[in-house]
Amino acid sequence: MSQPIALLSVYDKTGLLELAKGLHEAGVRLLGSGGTAKKIREAGLPIGDVSDITKAPEMLGGRVKTLHPAVHGGILARDIPSDQQDLEAQSISPISIVVCNLYPFTETISKPTCTLADAVEEIDIGGVTLLRAAAKNHARVSILSDPSDYQEFLESWKQSQGNVDQAVRSKLALKAFEQTAKYDDAISGYFREQYASAELSADKLAGPVQRMALRYGANPHQKPAQAFVTEDALPFKTLCGSPGYINLLDALNSYALVKELQEALNLPAAASFKHVSPAGAAVGVELSETEKKVYGVDDLKEPLTPLASAYARARGADRMSSFGDFVALSAPCDLATARIISREVSDGIIAPGYSPEALEVLSKKKGGKYCVLEIDPTYVPPSIETKQVYGVHLQQNRNDAKIDAKLFENVVTENKELPQEAITDLIVATLALKYTQSNSVAYAFHGAIVGIGAGQQSRIHCTRLAGGKADLWWLRHHPQVLALPFKKGVKRAEKANAIDLYVSGEVLEGGEKEHWESLFEGAVVPLTEEQKKEWASKLDGVACSSDAFFPFPDNVHRARRSGVKYLAAPGGSVMDARCVCSTTERLRAQ
Ligand code: 5GP
Repeated sequence: MSQPIALLSVYDKTGLLELAKGLHEAGVRLLGSGGTAKKIREAGLPIGDVSDITKAPEMLGGRVKTLHPAVHGGILARDIPSDQQDLEAQSISPISIVVCNLYPFTETISKPTCTLADAVEEIDIGGVTLLRAAAKNHARVSILSDPSDYQEFLESWKQSQGNVDQAVRSKLALKAFEQTAKYDDAISGYFREQYASAELSADKLAGPVQRMALRYGANPHQKPAQAFVTEDALPFKTLCGSPGYINLLDALNSYALVKELQEALNLPAAASFKHVSPAGAAVGVELSETEKKVYGVDDLKEPLTPLASAYARARGADRMSSFGDFVALSAPCDLATARIISREVSDGIIAPGYSPEALEVLSKKKGGKYCVLEIDPTYVPPSIETKQVYGVHLQQNRNDAKIDAKLFENVVTENKELPQEAITDLIVATLALKYTQSNSVAYAFHGAIVGIGAGQQSRIHCTRLAGGKADLWWLRHHPQVLALPFKKGVKRAEKANAIDLYVSGEVLEGGEKEHWESLFEGAVVPLTEEQKKEWASKLDGVACSSDAFFPFPDNVHRARRSGVKYLAAPGGSVMDARCVCSTTERLRAQ
């Protein structure tokens, strides 16, 4: 058997001499690229130069060192007669071990003085080829890409007298593949930043870009931060302002929700997002005169379009939570919708287009800093999504569950009646849950979310939280609330806050009480518990959806107290029968 050959070409020379010594003592012939061979030779160990087998000198200032058929033929040849014949015909010796690590591209580009030319020079070509070739042929070749593997490998080489286990070679190959993937990621990331970043485009309305730098991540100290895609371009462009990290989380999740709502119900849809969950979401069901007052759009000059109705409902259901929202629209923003948004405190908007008048209104908001994103409605996200938590990649198929009327065909209660409006509300509630921090319950009425309990650890707390919000929303329809004698000039957000304090019956003291009272002309009569109860009994026909089964019937009882008549929840609890029974009884008792 001919003497086994190891080819060594490393940038990081940690542990190199010990490895070279061990291999030499085990009878392996050593070959090295320029600097690697020099270091080993200077330590008194025998080593040949790669040029001994390539018969070509290193050239182009190191750009070409090992790129040669004598090297890659020797690495890639399989133990099959035709490959062996090819080697013999070209007088090439097979290589059994490759030791390689790459130029430090990431370290180089992180230096503030790094120029594009420096970065280009730091792109390792031959090394990546060595790693990939040896890893590809791991059925025969061992690839050492990490100095921390040298010692263990030497031992197994010696013990097996050069026949290391396939399992060892496989593990080493995987490591090499991971390294080239990471290396290529760093290179494409660098060039994405150089050649395809939003900051390079002076014209905001120019075509979409592949990457945008963000001022910071979820918190101001989380720098650097960026948004990018690895193919084509980002599916949105910035028409005004500059989105932050949380803005984008809100924008992308909320647009996905409204797009699905519109597809499911064939009506324009809107969402009002806060902290990556909907505070409100609705489809364009026309508003009654009372609802217009409740949602604060009765004084709007423009007639309400279906899209404007959808946003009025989404924004108006929980005005406290929607303060400073991110808006998503399923259809191009029109003037009426832009007018509603323009009077509210809001952070930004995403929509598949803007009428020129709407864009003019929105781009004046926040002193020209309002974030306006235009999404490509034809964009289809990849089916696999990945996130990283504490260094661990979590990967899953996107939640592509279709939520439409079919989902509610299995009616398990005695009452089998499910009117179209109830199906609409169940779809709205269930779709909203799909884009809400999980373990959540939503109540919907007239095509809009009226209460959402997001991300609670206990289901009854979700049901109570959502129910409590729905109760406040309903109380805001009380004639006494609609007739509250606000002084002229009280701001919309301040009114929303004052109404919230009024309907929730918060006991105010001192300066807070004085301030609240100062917003009204004259004394305000509080709503009594009796009045509230009587008013609550007038609400019926609300739909409620839960993103997991109800573990106890207390959820059913709580939902019913907020006018819920239609309940949708996945089955699977040992308590299913009792929950269904309670629903039937509650409804029969009315
Ligand atoms: P040395 O210090 O031995 O001169 O160079 C070792 C480095 O060169 C290693 O990081 C290896 O990945 C890289 N390398 C090996 N062959 C080539 C080649 O043909 N072209 C380039 N650009 N780099 C190579």
